[in-house]
Amino acid sequence: MDMDAFFASVEQFRVHPETQGLPVCVGPDPKRGFRGVVRSASYEARAYGVKSGMPVSAASRLCPTAVFVSSDFSNYVNASDEMIQILREYADGGRVRKASIDEAYIEVTEKVAKYSNPVQLAHEIRGNIKTRTNLPCSVGIAPNMAVAKVATGRGKPNGITLVSQGADSVARFLAPLSVRVVSGVGQKTGERLHAFGIETLGQVQRMSVADLWPIMGRASSWLHQMSLGIDERPLLDSGHHMRGSISHDSTFMEDVDPEAIDVLCGTLTDMCTRIAEKTRSKGLLFRVLTVKIRYRDFTTVQASRSLPVGTDSSHDLCRGVLDLFNKRRRMDLPIRLLGVKVSDLSEKEDQTTLTQFFR
Ligand SMILES: [Mg+2]
Repeated sequence: MDMDAFFASVEQFRVHPETQGLPVCVGPDPKRGFRGVVRSASYEARAYGVKSGMPVSAASRLCPTAVFVSSDFSNYVNASDEMIQILREYADGGRVRKASIDEAYIEVTEKVAKYSNPVQLAHEIRGNIKTRTNLPCSVGIAPNMAVAKVATGRGKPNGITLVSQGADSVARFLAPLSVRVVSGVGQKTGERLHAFGIETLGQVQRMSVADLWPIMGRASSWLHQMSLGIDERPLLDSGHHMRGSISHDSTFMEDVDPEAIDVLCGTLTDMCTRIAEKTRSKGLLFRVLTVKIRYRDFTTVQASRSLPVGTDSSHDLCRGVLDLFNKRRRMDLPIRLLGVKVSDLSEKEDQTTLTQFFR
């Protein structure tokens, strides 16, 4: 499940309803002299060629009627929490694998038995998300997470895409698609494959891993498996637990430009939501948060902050982490890895009165 134009939809359907039907860009308003990039563009704005990540000035030239809005990041985090909660109600074993702030996987092998077909279940989930969060989303149904992700992208916006079980049907679905639909094939890898005349996954399917080696190196067998839609990862609940702390690291497939604030803040926010969710599910509170930034040259910077009282709020975590990140990041080196950690954990029961007292 992937929310459609997530940040822009939150603004249109939850924060600024007067902008429904208008071309909306989430970002600083160039008409008021602000500079920056478009974080998310509504489908009305995309019709003019506006894309997320482009400078707001360029977006305004392409679409002079665009409305520029932005709000507190907590609006996005709250909408994300609500959507995860709905998915949890439908998930086998209540397991939700959150992939980003607006994207998550659930397994429905058991649940789907109660429906006449998987598309009917997907309709119900999508309808429920629309009714309860006001937000549109797209759904992909497939035998594994990698193929479900591609299927979800094919149905955007507001679509449901079903890829039937079976290796043949999965391979047939993927064959005509661009190599770029594979999550992890970025612009650089796409251009490299293009230079070797490889555009579609069907072409990759017909090659051997050895054929791919000169182009993809150690990633050859991974790409070959992806072209066939082979993904054996079990669907585990998000998060990662260690004694005394809960942390999450994210290494980018390709180093990220320090200006690409949408990607960087988006990644940090995802990790924060994931960590806060994990903390809540364990009935814990954290008091210390840490951000880790590793640059292309492998220098690693860590910065920490203590909160006055323990909390399990993803909003508090996001706000602290983004603030630390903005204060500590360097603009002269591409970023290789980001990490977030919470520590000084305590049981929620012990702290309840104290927390209430401080509020
Ligand atoms: Mg999305």
